[in-house]
Amino acid sequence: MNSKRLYLHTIGCQMNVYDTEQIAMQLAAIGYEQTATPDGADLIIVNTCTVRAKAEQKAFSFIGRIAKMKRHRKRLIIGVAGCVAQQEGRRILERMPAVDIVFGTQAIDRLPHLVKQIETRHCRIVDVDMVETPDMPDSLVGSQKSSQVSKFVTIMRGCDNYCAYCVVPFVRGRETSRQPESIICEVKALVNNGVKEVVLLGQNVNSYGKNQNLCSFAELLAMINEIYGLLRIRFTTSHPKDLGTDLISGFKDIPKLCSHIHLPVQSGSNRVLKRMNRNYTREQYLDKVAELRDTCPQIAITTDIIVGFPGETETDFEQTLQLVEMVEFDGLFAFQYSDRPPAPAAKLPDKIETSITSNRLQVILASQDRLTRRKNQQLVGSTQWVLTDGLSKK
Ligand code: SAH
Ligand code: SF4
Repeated sequence: MNSKRLYLHTIGCQMNVYDTEQIAMQLAAIGYEQTATPDGADLIIVNTCTVRAKAEQKAFSFIGRIAKMKRHRKRLIIGVAGCVAQQEGRRILERMPAVDIVFGTQAIDRLPHLVKQIETRHCRIVDVDMVETPDMPDSLVGSQKSSQVSKFVTIMRGCDNYCAYCVVPFVRGRETSRQPESIICEVKALVNNGVKEVVLLGQNVNSYGKNQNLCSFAELLAMINEIYGLLRIRFTTSHPKDLGTDLISGFKDIPKLCSHIHLPVQSGSNRVLKRMNRNYTREQYLDKVAELRDTCPQIAITTDIIVGFPGETETDFEQTLQLVEMVEFDGLFAFQYSDRPPAPAAKLPDKIETSITSNRLQVILASQDRLTRRKNQQLVGSTQWVLTDGLSKK
């Protein structure tokens, strides 16, 4: 089989990084080999994110740049994958004449077939059907070629939570968990290829298996802990409303589980949390933090915060800032609220001016910066066990 060159570009979350690898594996089966630059590629695919408006703009500007290459290379195939593809579908073909294929978050396993059609018939294709096959086909398990020591493993797809600001349930579909056997098989294959750490991915790992009567997430962790040769287990993301004592105990009882939890709080104001449809209060969140620290005193806790949710007052914001300082997070990601229709918050009145949200963002980031510095300072002179997983860009 003649090898054809494939260039993949990923924007967005860890789940997209994992999906991009699935795309590479699917296309390797029909003769595509990955290259490090778009120059000379026969097929270029951009895996997109739509969680905030900025990420979507990034995707369109990347496609715009790639589209120009087609002027000189008529046979180049350009594909758009991921959440923008799912959301925009055919509109992308209309807006960007250079794009040949748009495929959604649940079409990755159909990709080889779609690409073959384009190769032979030079047609343009849209596949944004939501027909989920969450488990990795047996034929692909272990076929990942990588020298990385830490790998993402998606254990569940979609989300049923419908937080008011969030587009994920609309572009990633209903929550579905992979079978534990399939996940374990994949982790074992990764470990055989030299992987030392896995990061288990789901929008809300705490509800793993619940709607399909599989094992619980804590039980899954205990099984993965038994895999010989694996050194570390991490996971993301936990939803505070579903974080139970069984998982919290895991930080004490599961030796390979790293002492870190990413627990997005989003806001420190009960009024805002309610409007966000988060289903927990500030007090419940603080109780979970206390239980985590009681169980595992050295645990690192990180979070996500949205500033400028519609109707957020100065008092609401101050409550968030106060929570950040009270909890003393080890790190946080803070975002300015962005309208993402059809997420329902897009229709809420009282949108906050950008000048105010950007100021609130700076205040949160500066506060966390001080905390992080202080925490890092406390580690000076200590001995830590670290996993070196690559070169930092800086
Ligand atoms: N499933 C995860 C996170 C998914 S999106 C969870 O529940 O925490 C990652 C982060 O993006 C969210 O935690 C939130 O802080 C941010 N985010 C999502 N939608 C957003 C929006 N419309 N505007 C700004 N930030 C948003
Ligand atoms: Fe979005 Fe909420 Fe689901 Fe996270 S839990 S993906 S924020 S809807």
